[in-house]
Order: sequence, then C-alpha cells, then structure tokens
Amino acid sequence: MKFNTKTIHGGQSPDKAYGAVMPPIYQTTTYAQTTPGGHQGYEYSRSHNPTRHALEKSFASIENGQFGLAFGSGLAAIDAVLKLLKPGDEVVSTNDLYGGTYRLFTQIFEKFQIKFHFVGMDNAHNIESVINANTKLIWVETPTNPMLNIIDIKRVSHIAKQHHILLAVDNTFATPYLQRPLDLGADIVMHSATKYLGGHSDVVMGALVVNDKTLADQLYFIQNASGAICGPHDSFLVLRGIKTLHIRMQRHCENGRAVALFLSTHPKIETVYWPGLESHPNYAIAKAQMDDFGGMLSFTTKDNNYQEAIKMVENLKTFTLAESLGGVESLAGHPASMTHASIPKEAREKIGVVDSLIRLSVGIEDAEDLIEDLKQALSKGFVQ
Ligand SMILES: *Cc1c(COP(=O)(O)O)cnc(C)c1O
Repeated sequence: MKFNTKTIHGGQSPDKAYGAVMPPIYQTTTYAQTTPGGHQGYEYSRSHNPTRHALEKSFASIENGQFGLAFGSGLAAIDAVLKLLKPGDEVVSTNDLYGGTYRLFTQIFEKFQIKFHFVGMDNAHNIESVINANTKLIWVETPTNPMLNIIDIKRVSHIAKQHHILLAVDNTFATPYLQRPLDLGADIVMHSATKYLGGHSDVVMGALVVNDKTLADQLYFIQNASGAICGPHDSFLVLRGIKTLHIRMQRHCENGRAVALFLSTHPKIETVYWPGLESHPNYAIAKAQMDDFGGMLSFTTKDNNYQEAIKMVENLKTFTLAESLGGVESLAGHPASMTHASIPKEAREKIGVVDSLIRLSVGIEDAEDLIEDLKQALSKGFVQ
C-alpha cells in the first residue's frame, strides 16, 4: 500500500457490528464478559479501546512501523519513552528542542537522576563526544522549532547503532508525508498529533510508532501502567484528520514555498528559514531526507526590532496570532515574546531566536491571500 492509500485505509476495515466505514466512537469504559476472562479482546478502556486501537494501527501504517500507541498529548508520549530509562541513564538530545520537551527533560526527569546532554546535532562529533556507557537514548527533532534546522537522521542512527543506543525522532513538523524516521534507522518515532496529524486545531494528542516487538511491549506496559491515554472521541477526530493528511501536506508545502519565496525577496526581510530554500544551511540534507519541505518557516527583519515585530504580528489578519501549528489555518507567532519569553535574551539569541524572529505555520488557504496579508502587515508594522 502506498502512502496516500495508507492515510485512508491503513490498519482499518469496516466495523464488524454494522459495517460502519468509519470506526465508531466506542465511548465505553468497560466490556461485558461471558465468564470471567471471557471477552473479545477488550476489558477496560485504559488498557484497550476499539476506536483508539483503530487509530494506533493507522499511526503504525503511515509511519511504516509495526506498532502504534496513542497518548493524551505529545508530551505524554515523550514521557512514556523516558520511562523506559532508569536513574543514572543519560540522554543526548537536540539543543534547539521544543520548549515543552526541554521542560519535561530538565524539570521532571532530571529529578529522577536522568542526565541530559543538549548538543548541536549538525555535527556528529558533538554527539559522539558526550556518549558514554550510561547513554541509553538519543532524542532528535527535525526540522527544529523555530529555526528549522535539519538533522541527518540516517547519520545519527549509525552512531546510535554503533553504541547500542535507542534513537527516537520527534516527527511532528515533518509528518510521515515528508519523512519516515523508522525507514532511516530510528527505533521510535514520536508525534504531537495535536499538530499536522489531527490537522484541524481541535484535539490534543500524542503518538509513538516502533518496529521492535519487545520495545512495543515495554511501551504498551508504560501506556497502561501510567495511564496517559487519549479518549475515544479524540481518537476518532485524529483518525478523520489523518485521512486528509496527504492532501493537506501537499498544500502546506506549496503555500510554504510561495510564502518563503515572497518573504525572501521582500526588502525589509533579513533571513528566511525554510529548508526548501537553497540558501538554507541544511538544504542538502533536507533535500535528501525529505520528500518536500513543509509549511513551517521563520524569518527575521533587517531592523531586528522587538516592538516592530510585535506590531507586525498584531497587524496580521488572515494569519492568526497564536501558539501551536499544523492546522488548516495559518498561524503566526513571535517566539521572543511567546514560546521563548522565559529564556534570557542572550541564551535565546545564541540559538537564533532574535527580537524580530517571527514563526509562521502556513495553512492551506489561497497563497495569494496569505502573501497579501504579510505584505500589508509588513508595510504597517515597520517604520518606513
Ligand atoms: C507541540 C509539540 C510537542 C508537544 O505536544 P503536545 O501535543 O502539545 O503535548 C512536542 N514536539 C513538538 C515538535 C511540538 O510541536
């Protein structure tokens, strides 16, 4: 089965009871048993639920994996992966990590004596220099947020395999439409399904997909034992979202390109960070690793003025000023005052989050309208 067919049919078949084409929302906590233990595979909905099960099979199918697991949020999925570890274990992670992941690592798991090394993964030496006998997990995010750096998954997976370390990839920004980490050597692929997989900004959810049965069993155990599952209605919504993932992503990529090209020729713009531009420092890896370049991009202005950047995002009309990404509607954010506001100016500037950096999640509206909106906001927002 090819990708576009998998998004619609992957792991799914008409419901056994009445032939419903969409998996029904099994809004139930428990299941009748004919005799103690005499059930049809479902006992209690923290452990198993038919709607969630259909979604988990869909996750596995689109990521070319054997086993899928759904969680109540992206962070709950990451939390489950970290619970594979024990005190004394060490993790090597991307340095410009999603803020919530960084918080989970440093403010929750460090308390349990797990040690994290945050390194620039564009250079393999940076990874190898911190690996030791305690290193059990490498955590990769690519493209990164909000600088859209690209990390060579295959290269990192060679290092991980050499040292017998698990490799997990947060595939939220790219989605399996653009890159399939398991095929590139990762052991675990993770999603905030809140973003592109759900795709309609109406549900918070997380996903994991793996190929190894032992690893899957360990993660299923954690999912059930810790209990950070998602409900059947949310499962239904994400299943519905995934059915249009391929056509939404196609448009996200087209619009991302149109907006990136417009911004890169605008006289007020300093730099556009979109991996599909040849000027992007990781363009070669992006081109080899991804099938297209997505709808996430960031840019800075020549004046690099904090207040002007805020005025600019306030003046946007078609783009909504909001956190999050990956929905059908276009969103804009100002990391320095929003997602990265808690990071000291010097530290955030080191990773590229300067005062004028604006991040766009380019939606699937008409590109002409998006460009018009940026044009008017840029002309109003900035001192002429
Ligand atoms: C949103 C996001 C997360 C966290 O997911 P939630 O669903 O918000 O818990 C993790 N990684 C990336 C890249 C994200 O964008």
